[in-house]
Amino acid sequence: MTRGSAMHDYLSRWSGGLKESRLSWTFKFLGRIITLSGMPDLVELRPEGIFITDYKVTENPPRDKATWICSGCNTAVKKSGSKFLCPNCGEIARSAAYRTVETAQARSSHILQINLYGLLIEKNLRQVAAALGATGSPPVCGGEVLYLPPTLPMRCPVPYNRETTMLSSRKA
Ligand SMILES: [Zn+2]
Repeated sequence: MTRGSAMHDYLSRWSGGLKESRLSWTFKFLGRIITLSGMPDLVELRPEGIFITDYKVTENPPRDKATWICSGCNTAVKKSGSKFLCPNCGEIARSAAYRTVETAQARSSHILQINLYGLLIEKNLRQVAAALGATGSPPVCGGEVLYLPPTLPMRCPVPYNRETTMLSSRKA
């Protein structure tokens, strides 16, 4: 509850953009009428196009993942205490391993959600563009999930991919 309202405080500090505006799209698929509906937290007009932000209050945000790699055979090394164990080379010296960091990615369901919002915006483009004060028909340029853990907010960019989203919404 408290952090749910913290999120709304966060949103209300934002001056521009469309906040929590419901969008829907009704279409016929396999002889059935389907309505897709959603309410993105924040939709903004940026120089590249329309940008979607969704806030997720969570105890467990995605994190950067660090892996040690054996420089002899480029395989992931297991670190056990101060030992570095390569599945091919056995125990190796720390200086024979290097560290790679995989940047945290938004959760796949959240990536899909941002992409569905992108689709809904495209289907309601005239209305959204007018509300944002845009001239013409700006493209949907992408979005991000802003995770709000008890500590620091964490931004995960999400690219917009219309084709993949169309496919997965049909499967759903
Ligand atoms: Zn190795």
